[in-house]
Amino acid sequence: MTQSSDTQSNNDTQNSAAQGVVDSNWQNDALDLTAGYAMQTLSVRAGQHRTDEGEHSEAIFTTSSYVYQSAADAAAHFNGSKQGNVYSRHTNPSVRTFERRLAVLEGGERAVATASGMGAILTMCLAYLKAGDHLLAAKQLFGSSIGLFNNYFVKYGVEVSYVDCFDNDAWAAAVQDNTRVIYCESPSNPLGQIADMTFLSELAHQHGALFIVDNCFATPAIQKPLDFGADIVIHSATKYIDGQGRVLGGALVGSDELMQQAFTVVRSGGISMSPFNAWVFTKGLETLTLRMKEHCANANKVARFLADHPKVSRVHFSGLSDHPAHELAKRQHYREDCFGAIMGFEVKGDGKSEKEAAWHVIDSTQMVSITNNLGDAKTTVTHPATTTHFRLKPEDRIAAGVGDGLIRLSVGLEDVDDIIADLARGLDTL
Ligand SMILES: *Cc1c(COP(=O)(O)O)cnc(C)c1O
Repeated sequence: MTQSSDTQSNNDTQNSAAQGVVDSNWQNDALDLTAGYAMQTLSVRAGQHRTDEGEHSEAIFTTSSYVYQSAADAAAHFNGSKQGNVYSRHTNPSVRTFERRLAVLEGGERAVATASGMGAILTMCLAYLKAGDHLLAAKQLFGSSIGLFNNYFVKYGVEVSYVDCFDNDAWAAAVQDNTRVIYCESPSNPLGQIADMTFLSELAHQHGALFIVDNCFATPAIQKPLDFGADIVIHSATKYIDGQGRVLGGALVGSDELMQQAFTVVRSGGISMSPFNAWVFTKGLETLTLRMKEHCANANKVARFLADHPKVSRVHFSGLSDHPAHELAKRQHYREDCFGAIMGFEVKGDGKSEKEAAWHVIDSTQMVSITNNLGDAKTTVTHPATTTHFRLKPEDRIAAGVGDGLIRLSVGLEDVDDIIADLARGLDTL
């Protein structure tokens, strides 16, 4: 069972004609995606599924199932001779609107939404890997991604190995005959390292593997991995796509063929996105670019402040001109002066242990939230070694570059001077 768009559009075209509707925009799915609309226009309008009620804002379809006109109509939906919704674990109009809008923004043919970002990564593993295959991944990954690979997929016979995301020679040396997926985040969590996507897509394709990028930190407002040869983009929509820390969701974006494989996993495994969450994400996409520009501008200023502070030994942020991947980030991020808004910085112990120093800076904040979420309008601060990366084995944690003095910051949309003042409280009293 695939999407119901064709059936729906045809019905609506007929209905509209019958009612003498002249505004072509009124119709369901009427935005002409081939008309060359700019990114911001597509963010606001692409993929909307307008019903005969004529609602202006996208509706939330809170329904688990759908009715048929007759027994024969039901049978046709099940045997595939007629396309349409049968159950919201498979398809739902609100989820489809989100999928279409995200697919357009990433430049992919189709998107498949999932219950969370980890649901998207699980779907990737189930759809594209089997026992005996090799998954070659970056060391610098969201902690739960490493946990999922090592604790579960290894158990099911998938071979997994890791290399530094920025080390092209290491990637090339680690590819095997059975490598089926090359996977990275760029920028990476929590250190903002940059992978060379053109290099990795060529490497993957030479070996018949898929190149998959978690684009959660950049979002399509800054970077489009499919333009650099990636086969699939993964998202935790929980982060910037929502942007206000409300709901969980994820997605994969790519070709129709690859997405069909992902879709059958989501449908069978029940990793589906809820209609309400899809609606939140759809509305989030409308302001994504506007928010990301502001997030990035704030982050550039905060990074500069941290880099100049005597108690900060290192700032991990590709927006700083002395960052080793600054030029590469500039090439891959199509929006000028935008490097994302997540950064790591290391504080000097100066008599305290590094952990104590990091906790002092975190605990001295009065406005910034101490939470593990990121990509929120609210600035958030995390001590990765004792939270997000706590469950990793010490050697995996070190490999991911997560030391005891590291603080991760997700720069939000408050006034940047207030963010800087809040961080200065702890740094100035170390
Ligand atoms: C948060 C995150 C995930 C997981 O997403 P959830 O929605 O929390 O399941 C995956 N990748 C990155 C880079 C993340 O930051």
